[in-house]
Amino acid sequence: MILAASFFHNENFLRVLYIVAFGLFIYGMTGLTGPRTAVRGNRIAAVGMAIAVAATLLWPGEGNWGLIAVGIAIGACIGVPAARRVRMTAMPQMVALFNGVGGGAVFLIAWAEFRNTHGYSGTATYVAVFSLFAAIVGSISFWGSNIAFGKLQELLPGRPITLGRPQQLVNGLLLAAAVLLAVLVGDGSHSQLEFVGMLLCAAVLGNFVVLPIGGADMPVVISLLNAFTGLSAAATGVALNNPALIVAGMIVGASGTILTNLMAVAMNRSIPAIVAGGFGGGGQVAGASGAGEAAGTVHSVSAADVAIQLAYARLVVVVPGYGMAVAQAQHAVRELAKALEARGVEVKYAIHPVAGRMPGHMNVLLAEADVPYDQLKEMDEINPEFSRTDVALVIGANDVTNPAAKTNPGSPIFGMPILDVENAHQVVVIKRSMNPGFAGIENELYFKPNTSMLFGDAKSAVQDITSELAGV
Ligand code: NAP
Repeated sequence: MILAASFFHNENFLRVLYIVAFGLFIYGMTGLTGPRTAVRGNRIAAVGMAIAVAATLLWPGEGNWGLIAVGIAIGACIGVPAARRVRMTAMPQMVALFNGVGGGAVFLIAWAEFRNTHGYSGTATYVAVFSLFAAIVGSISFWGSNIAFGKLQELLPGRPITLGRPQQLVNGLLLAAAVLLAVLVGDGSHSQLEFVGMLLCAAVLGNFVVLPIGGADMPVVISLLNAFTGLSAAATGVALNNPALIVAGMIVGASGTILTNLMAVAMNRSIPAIVAGGFGGGGQVAGASGAGEAAGTVHSVSAADVAIQLAYARLVVVVPGYGMAVAQAQHAVRELAKALEARGVEVKYAIHPVAGRMPGHMNVLLAEADVPYDQLKEMDEINPEFSRTDVALVIGANDVTNPAAKTNPGSPIFGMPILDVENAHQVVVIKRSMNPGFAGIENELYFKPNTSMLFGDAKSAVQDITSELAGV
């Protein structure tokens, strides 16, 4: 018994557990590259995380089991139901919240380290440097993520909230103050007041960096804050000499950075421009094409009309967007596609990289409805095919089909790559009204002569088309 206990607390054994955990993180992540393997990949990475946590808890001298158990119980009681209940469309704010918790844990650990070592007395300089870096970045990430959550959850206004011109100056001063206080603390001031002052400056900075950013850029900001949290966790790992935290933090930091860049490119936004703020408040955006510019005749059709168009088509390309996710119409869409295929119509799905509210949103939904993966076509692959497409069926997608991105230099989405649906012989758009999408701008596609609008909720509209199809 004693032998077994000493084996489980053996540092070499625990290091081997950490290596197994890293291996599982990385192996699990390779599964996240495709919808078919994603769930399994996620589970494998979760097992890796469980092993890393167990190894950390078994580490010799790891204390206060009672507090640890209370922490795990509170976290599990809040986290598990929240993650189970969350709607897919609310995933970005969920990620913001969980990311914020990570940043909060990092700055609290740094604070505990400061207190345990009596202001870094007798510790190596690098421990103080990494710990203070983690405290500042973790605090920025915690407060920034909370603001991002508040905006996406509509607890705070989605529009940019800014001090105006002095904003960047104030942010610069806050950063300088936080760094100055960190230098004083790191230099051996032992002052708790200075440490807390540093955390407060970083907290106000986190609020001030995210408040001026409009709702439209928020998912990119969350990804950026996620990268920050990863970096701060890795820095904590260096300070605590915990390799699991270093590797996990670096994986989060690196993947968050890559994702931020991919999203920014797909939205044609530069990261510095996003952080400078001011775009996409959720309403009409400056520079957007107004009703007057795009106004024309809108051609409204019935489900029966659409069923006839689809029944006599050779190639139908379904263009899903955020509205399909809101309506949870993916299963109805699959049923419609099956009915069309039974009539010999070829059906493909055009996937825009930022359709919906998170990368891969459409792939996940369509995979859930068992849409064959080879029918999902990425933007570059499907765009040349629209000119030979009989009907492009746009279901709850708006911005990602807006030709203003190519034709209107004044539009806030100008330069964003879009799906060229207007090149199809006929375009049918299913949405509830003429309201704009995420970027808050009108879509001139709806006024094109080859476009028809089927107004209604995506799920019921698609079900109506399928029933009408039976009678054609
Ligand atoms: P979108 O531009 O937001 O438009 C969605 C449309 O769906 C709306 O115009 C809405 O019109 C309609 N809709 C909502 N509920 C519906 C329902 N129940 N039934 C039918 N239609 C419904 O969506 P998108 O074309 O997918 O574009 C995504 C936008 O999000 C882009 O601006 C992108 O830049 C942004 N974004 C995405 C990501 C990402 O990672 N995916 C990240 C950051 C930002 P009605 O109200 O008239 O129905």
